[in-house]
Amino acid sequence: MNLPSKVTICEVGLRDGLQNETKIFQTSEKLELATGLIAAGFKVIELGSFMSPKAVPQMADTDKLFQDLNHIDGVELRALIANKKGVERAINCGCRKVKLNVSASRQHNLANLNMTPEESVAGFEEIVNIALQHGIEVSGSISMPFGSPWEGDMPLESVQSIVEAYLNVGVTEISLSDASGMAVPNQVYSMCSNMQERYPQVKWWLHFHNTRGMAMANILAAMQAGITQFDSSFAGLGGCPFVPGATGNVSSEDVVHMMDEMGIETGIDIEKLIELSKKVRQIVDHDTDSYILKAGRSKDLIRK
Ligand code: ZN
Repeated sequence: MNLPSKVTICEVGLRDGLQNETKIFQTSEKLELATGLIAAGFKVIELGSFMSPKAVPQMADTDKLFQDLNHIDGVELRALIANKKGVERAINCGCRKVKLNVSASRQHNLANLNMTPEESVAGFEEIVNIALQHGIEVSGSISMPFGSPWEGDMPLESVQSIVEAYLNVGVTEISLSDASGMAVPNQVYSMCSNMQERYPQVKWWLHFHNTRGMAMANILAAMQAGITQFDSSFAGLGGCPFVPGATGNVSSEDVVHMMDEMGIETGIDIEKLIELSKKVRQIVDHDTDSYILKAGRSKDLIRK
């Protein structure tokens, strides 16, 4: 097998996970989880988003989290933004990394925004310029590149033209986000191979939800194609507002456990991570989609 010797995992639970919970976490709880993640070895963390607090009340305190955690060196803390107001909030609270998002679904974008995905991305130019002027790095995400509830399969060409729209506004770090949980491994392999060959200047991230139990297989397929950066969420929290029955992101402890067992370095202490994920499950007070929280590590089974 063609496997990397190490991978980077971004913890997205504080954003993708918590924004789908009805319970709103206290700022102090979020700070405790974020510092715990850093202590467990995470070098990339998506802390929150700068959306309207009316629309996403769970993320209203993202500014405060950045103010409290900005001083920590060697960890990239990023936030999701959607508009100029978002980048202004990033500047004001000292956030150094923002992520934009567009849906690969033309029908979805046209119905909601009356624009094609390419037009949406072209409209990000002003935001990107403001961010860069303030020393803030910008990455871009494309959701549902592997299939959407609106049109089913996504043609490769339409994903490529969105990638090109991002490159045109100066964004060279791009995440492919299977929010609908429709990706399958052979498709992931061919998409990742094609994208890396065609756009070698892009730093790729893959973001899988485990809606139909295929996230781990998709991560393996992406690694086979040379991808080494993945998002995941503690305890497997998360969802997708447009997809009925969508379960969470693939769980961080499941991913780190698989990497550990395969001898692929993550830099993350699985025991510390499991303790944090247990805490998360306690706070949300419902069962979550995490195999390791249910079954424990394989290593813990071995009788001495
Ligand atoms: Zn997601």
